[in-house]
Amino acid sequence: MKIKKTEGILLHCCCGPCAEYPLQQLSAENYQPTLYYFNPNIQPQAEWQRRYESLAKLSDLLDLSLVATGAAATEQWLSLPDQAERCRFCYRLRLEEAARYAQANRFPVFSTTLLVSPYQKREMIVEIGQELADSYGLKFLAADWRPGFRAGQQWAREHGLYRQRYCGCIFSLEESSFKERIKAEHARLEQGISDRT
Ligand code: SF4
Repeated sequence: MKIKKTEGILLHCCCGPCAEYPLQQLSAENYQPTLYYFNPNIQPQAEWQRRYESLAKLSDLLDLSLVATGAAATEQWLSLPDQAERCRFCYRLRLEEAARYAQANRFPVFSTTLLVSPYQKREMIVEIGQELADSYGLKFLAADWRPGFRAGQQWAREHGLYRQRYCGCIFSLEESSFKERIKAEHARLEQGISDRT
């Protein structure tokens, strides 16, 4: 898949696998995407790094620019006053940072790979994205990429990208039926990280 270079769009990316299908669709619509990785909800840091590396691999494969900023912010999630509102807080934080970057760097349009996942709260994401677009003088591309979710996951498998088994924050990790296995993987990764430092 080659991206045609016509109109710029800042694509907030939560991970590599979820970027696969939206990038194919944007290519068909003649957009020139820049990938933007700002996901403090991806916790702990070993997981943040793992998902970043998967997206970086995809950006290399497709020859696309990738901007990454921030880090895992577990303490921020632990101190949220209302856990029932954590996803609204999470979407807004990430999309507002993307909107700010888009405005500062003259991207007329922004969007997010969160719109490919049937597991995310689409209506809330679109509402926040459009509100931020109005505030920052941008367009929010509210595409419905969910029909391509399975195909995107299959391409990610073929590209050898890491595919996660929980949404991101420490609470969603605790809710995952794979949590013990995932925590063991994190412990191994953290050991690898500290061995290198
Ligand atoms: S469940 Fe997912 S969307 Fe909701 S706060 Fe956690 S990481 Fe964010």
